[in-house]
Amino acid sequence: MPLSRRQLLQSAAAAGLAPLLPRRLVAETAIGPGRLITVSDGNLVLPGDFIFAGMPEAELSGILAARGIDRQRLTPECNVTLWQEGERTVLFDVGAGPDFMQSAGALQENLAAAGITPEEVTEVVFTHAHPDHIWGLLDEFDEPVFPGARYLMGRAEWDYWWDPATATSIGAERQLFALGARRRMEAIEDRIERFEDGAEILPGLSAVLLPGHTPGHMGFELRHGAEAAMIVGDAIGNDHVAFARPGWAANSDQEPELAARTRVALMDRLALEQMPVIGFHLSQGGMGHVERVADGYRFVPL
Ligand SMILES: [Zn+2]
Repeated sequence: MPLSRRQLLQSAAAAGLAPLLPRRLVAETAIGPGRLITVSDGNLVLPGDFIFAGMPEAELSGILAARGIDRQRLTPECNVTLWQEGERTVLFDVGAGPDFMQSAGALQENLAAAGITPEEVTEVVFTHAHPDHIWGLLDEFDEPVFPGARYLMGRAEWDYWWDPATATSIGAERQLFALGARRRMEAIEDRIERFEDGAEILPGLSAVLLPGHTPGHMGFELRHGAEAAMIVGDAIGNDHVAFARPGWAANSDQEPELAARTRVALMDRLALEQMPVIGFHLSQGGMGHVERVADGYRFVPL
């Protein structure tokens, strides 16, 4: 069942004003001379069907029960990744900003709490253009939050959301996602830098196309010699069913079958290489490892 923005907002409103998670810097690791941290943007409040609609209910309920997940009401963390190395401070996505959900949009205050000013951010790199990832580009006065940053987005993702036809082809339940993305993208149109799959967009940072959640969704592999980590955005969108059954189609993905194939291949690689994973909506700050178990995978937080 597709969910309207109205239903999503009602669900958020029902959660009330109280933040559900401590709002702070949440996880940290080192890759070579650089450090990777995640900073909380708050959390989303979603009806379970946003992800689970269409999944086999009997098996699903066992997976969720084992992890203490409420089938009806999800409160996923939103963790923005920040990479600092030398003079460079790179943000991966910018959070939801003031207009999406009351429970999200806390990135600015949490960056400040971590001692990082918006002016320090040298690059903003987008995984994809969904509201919880790009709406935080502008503040409540429609001014860019990160005034000195370069902006980088995968070419296919930019082209998809820039196309005016997307707002009509995307489906009623995501139409406002399209209009909202386009409005933010117009604010950076004259300085966006687009890149392709496989490009080394910054020294040590390579783009990895992970399509399906959105048509041009990108992940990023940060590598320094043998040390590496993979920023997966929403290609792995949760740490319960996406790990337990990565091959299941999820309603939260725009192209569910393609997203499932992407997720299966990605899980396999991350488990095989034991590469740390950083996911926007994974729990406990979003950093961890992928561990293969008998009938799927398991998220092991750092
Ligand atoms: Zn997301």
